[in-house]
Amino acid sequence: MNPAVTDIYQSLGVARRINAAGTLTRLGGSLMEPEVLQAMVQAATASVDMAELQTAASKVIARVTGAEAGIVTSGAAAGLTLASAACLARWDVARMTALPDTRGMPNEVLMVRTQRNSYDHAIRLAGARIVDIGHNDRGTGAGIRGLEPWEITAAITPQTVAMVFVATAQTVHELPAVLQVVHAHGLPVIVDAAAQLPPRSNLQRFIAAGADLVVFSGGKAIGGPQASGILAGRRDLIGSALLQMMDMDVNPTTWSPSDLIDRAALHGVPHHGIGRGFKVGKEEIAGLVCALKRFVARDEVASAQALAARLQAIAAALAAQPGITTRLVPGTELAPIPLLEIDAGAGAAALVERLLRGDPPVHVGERMLDAGILTINPQTLRCEDDSVLVRCLLTSLRSPS
Ligand SMILES: *Cc1c(COP(=O)(O)O)cnc(C)c1O
Repeated sequence: MNPAVTDIYQSLGVARRINAAGTLTRLGGSLMEPEVLQAMVQAATASVDMAELQTAASKVIARVTGAEAGIVTSGAAAGLTLASAACLARWDVARMTALPDTRGMPNEVLMVRTQRNSYDHAIRLAGARIVDIGHNDRGTGAGIRGLEPWEITAAITPQTVAMVFVATAQTVHELPAVLQVVHAHGLPVIVDAAAQLPPRSNLQRFIAAGADLVVFSGGKAIGGPQASGILAGRRDLIGSALLQMMDMDVNPTTWSPSDLIDRAALHGVPHHGIGRGFKVGKEEIAGLVCALKRFVARDEVASAQALAARLQAIAAALAAQPGITTRLVPGTELAPIPLLEIDAGAGAAALVERLLRGDPPVHVGERMLDAGILTINPQTLRCEDDSVLVRCLLTSLRSPS
């Protein structure tokens, strides 16, 4: 533990928590490695041209993702807003200035009904109107079909500016058909892949499939600053997104924009855009770039094996405890992080409450709580906290009050 970190939280009277629930934003996202922290410290001590810094980050993001260009955003949600803004305004300075008011301009973004989620707000924030398509037949058990290409075609009108596709291990097989139909109409596809890492191969997968823009969270598995993310994709759309995020208090005569920005396509110099409130700091850009380089250099198989071994040791320490059973869920190719499921039956919710009230407070995954199952996700569990987690679990299991 970095003593400085303990001190800042202690001095504020804020409890340090054991996080066995994964890279949840409400628990501060990922934990950073010292090297990433160091990059941020160095970045904090000098002035730079932020557009030049983003352009340098773009080269790294392009290399790692295979995209034409990329920018660091203040998170994947900000990336969705900027991606939507880029598709709405392109290089139109008047439209950039008008957003989120989209009266008089095409503003419809298509989404599959079964992919609607609470990050939709980030898309609407740019001024887009979401048009959802398809049926939830599989979800309700009423039918066996998912999205069909003709349903997309039928929804595309002169008002359509883009389609957003939320990539998960369950949806990704539908992406090629979506790309084919949407591209046939000359429209871009934005992929929300915020939490689809690891596997590292997903950094390239959606771009290679033909996605025009892809967002990733920097504060989840990449291990970057919590308030960071990546928007990667087509150079023209990335340039528009960057322009709508930059501080634009510039003099048009002396302004020398990043070469990501197509000055010839611009009929003027825009004011602060819709992304101005998602300002990303030099520290976040430096930290994200450092974390990203480390993420792609890591031995993914060995990392997953080490995590599984730690979960096995935790399971072994709980094995003698009556009232629960554990199950190690190995990682898969599309979702390589292993998990430990603890089946606590009817007492599961009460157990979670006791863990949260404990000292230190412990957070476990609650996604399957209705089925009586808690999950241990090792991604944000520091090695030295494994034994604390076991102690807290045993204490909570033994004191049913
Ligand atoms: C986490 C997440 C986001 C938001 O990511 P931030 O980096 O926290 O802004 C967006 N979409 C999905 C699917 C996510 O899981």
